[in-house]
Amino acid sequence: MWRHVRACSRSVRPSRLGLQRRPCGTTSSTGSPTLTTPRRVAPQKVLLHSCCAPCSGSMVEELVAGGHHVTIFFYNPNIHPREEYEIRKEENKRFAERIGTPFVDADYDVDEWFKRARGMEFDPERGRRCTMCFDMRMERTALYAHENGFDCFTTTNATSRWKDQEQVNSSGFRAAAKYNFMPYFWKYDWQTDAMTERKYRINAEQRFYKQEYCGCSYSLRDSNIWRKQNGIPPVQIGGETAGLGSRYFENPEDDAREESVEVVEAFFASADRHFDNTLVYKGRQRQADKAAARDETGSTCNNW
Ligand code: SF4
Repeated sequence: MWRHVRACSRSVRPSRLGLQRRPCGTTSSTGSPTLTTPRRVAPQKVLLHSCCAPCSGSMVEELVAGGHHVTIFFYNPNIHPREEYEIRKEENKRFAERIGTPFVDADYDVDEWFKRARGMEFDPERGRRCTMCFDMRMERTALYAHENGFDCFTTTNATSRWKDQEQVNSSGFRAAAKYNFMPYFWKYDWQTDAMTERKYRINAEQRFYKQEYCGCSYSLRDSNIWRKQNGIPPVQIGGETAGLGSRYFENPEDDAREESVEVVEAFFASADRHFDNTLVYKGRQRQADKAAARDETGSTCNNW
């Protein structure tokens, strides 16, 4: 993906973040309504699949404030290259430690992710490849939740307006169905204005690393193609300087505006009209097809 993903900040204990449990259905300290689980009973033991620290802050805050017991589950074999994966994981782990939330570091089975992505290397964001990507992560999350006695699970992928909420939720339900909905998948509208504002407030407070693409090598490739077409410097992985904009989250108002419904819709409409990477990478698709025919792992496709 070729936009910024905006997110969170630094070194605050749970009480200072406002992470006190309170009865379900009341109003939070930040003024937004407290969430309720589908069964409307707190506390629930919730396994929260997290893609990164910036997307997890507001959900953890809301869930804990709602009286639930949250464990963060980091399983993201889609993130490439490894350096970016480690940055996102370590930041999420540090955030979990700061707020006293258990953190599970799951496998980085990148070869399996590339195998599943075969034939979808040129699909647009929100297409088939993303369904596969959500399915893979939700399946692993549901399995862990099932084996470890969680009531339910959900995912930070559902907080971002850059994601198709229906697509994300469908993957969650499919994964829960494999275990007869024990645990169930917690569907909720995490993309409200209040949640988006809260996400960027926390991100600026915590001064999180601002990632510049969705995560996989294909989204990185497409981000850089789009940037080149628009005269923008390429994505920078790590370091103190971003390819575009600030390296860390600093301005909650600007960041929330960048994820407004209008901006996101305009972006995807524009991308549909003007961005056709199947032409740019036609020759390389043939190489990928040949590699798949030889039953190679697909990891080599990371060198776009
Ligand atoms: S664009 Fe994002 S959601 Fe889609 S496959 Fe790549 S990492 Fe997964």
